[in-house]
Amino acid sequence: MGPDCFGVYVHFPYCRQRCPYCDFAVSVQPSVPHERYRDQVLAELAARAPLYAGRALVSIYFGGGTPSLWRPDCIAAVRRAVLATFPPRPGIEPEVTVEADPADLSDEVLLGLRAAGVNRLSLGVQSLTDRHLLRLGRQHDAAQARSAVARARAAGFANLSLDLMIGLPGQRWRELEEDLEGFLSLAPEHLSVYQLTVEPGTALAAAVRAGKVRMPGDARQAEAYQRAKLRLQEAGYQHYEISSYARGGGQDLRAVHNRLYWTLGEYLGLGVSAHSFRRLPDGGGERFANPRSTRQYLARAFVPALEPADDASLAYHERLEPEALARQGLWLGLRLLEGLSLDGFRQQHGYDPLLRHGDEIGRLLARGLLERSGDVLRLTSRGVLLADEVGVALV
Ligand code: SF4
Repeated sequence: MGPDCFGVYVHFPYCRQRCPYCDFAVSVQPSVPHERYRDQVLAELAARAPLYAGRALVSIYFGGGTPSLWRPDCIAAVRRAVLATFPPRPGIEPEVTVEADPADLSDEVLLGLRAAGVNRLSLGVQSLTDRHLLRLGRQHDAAQARSAVARARAAGFANLSLDLMIGLPGQRWRELEEDLEGFLSLAPEHLSVYQLTVEPGTALAAAVRAGKVRMPGDARQAEAYQRAKLRLQEAGYQHYEISSYARGGGQDLRAVHNRLYWTLGEYLGLGVSAHSFRRLPDGGGERFANPRSTRQYLARAFVPALEPADDASLAYHERLEPEALARQGLWLGLRLLEGLSLDGFRQQHGYDPLLRHGDEIGRLLARGLLERSGDVLRLTSRGVLLADEVGVALV
């Protein structure tokens, strides 16, 4: 993986219902306009493709929302068009991931996704404790999650990532341990381990404000994180990024798509609220995003090859000067726990980070949040727990 790698993110905004903790751009309605949404995504791909001419694809990621609600033939059509637009280099088989709700994964859907060329599923299991799944407002129970994993295997999926939420309100240590053992028994290739966060404006935020839900304090959250980390590492998982674990055993099972984000790889985002990143010839870059309204997205027209800086339809556009991008690269690179090569940074950005950002880095070293070993700068265990503070200090 490196800065020359390129991926496409496709956002599918529809969900059956809004989970109480979610603030993503989602659209809840009785029926999904499958073809209409597909056609808009294809039109956006055709219009924006010239911005990324000549890039070689390593990943397509269908996120949401709930992309497992999208008919597999629509996913197949988008995958085909992306591959035709950005042919991968010889010998590279791009990672094609679909985020899936275990409740959606009938055998028919699973076989449809395989036939559509999907080679990785990211399953929003979250917990294997029914009372927590219920409180999280999820559509599935633990038995359905287990069954979805078993049937995904039977359908031929050899690469599964499971989302595990820790630090749930009222979660007992025994329940966390049972969740960890339950997830390990499913032997996923990859695990994303998240803490439940209270996003402003959500039903969860209102419940917390009204005193109906009590979130665990920082110390308990930190202990849940450490317990999860120790158990997963003991079971042979490599903790390679703050929230990410890959099963060991010789094969590299780290997420290709997410590593694009952490290594300043470029990506084109298609669909409602999708974010994109493009590097610019002067060494800087630009980030831009579509608006969050599904209704608007379905009605809009796309202007071919329009420069993002001139695109008034975008909800967000930011031009990053070379040093601002380098700072982001420093922080994002540190999320990878193997650390950041100072020499690699110098080659990519043209200067020594210890000279230009020496004050900030020195303070973080002195606080024990970063450590340096030869050419490598990395987060300490404490720095991982206080990663947000490190990010604020560097960016
Ligand atoms: S299924 Fe996922 S995207 Fe949809 S509302 Fe729930 S958490 Fe949000």
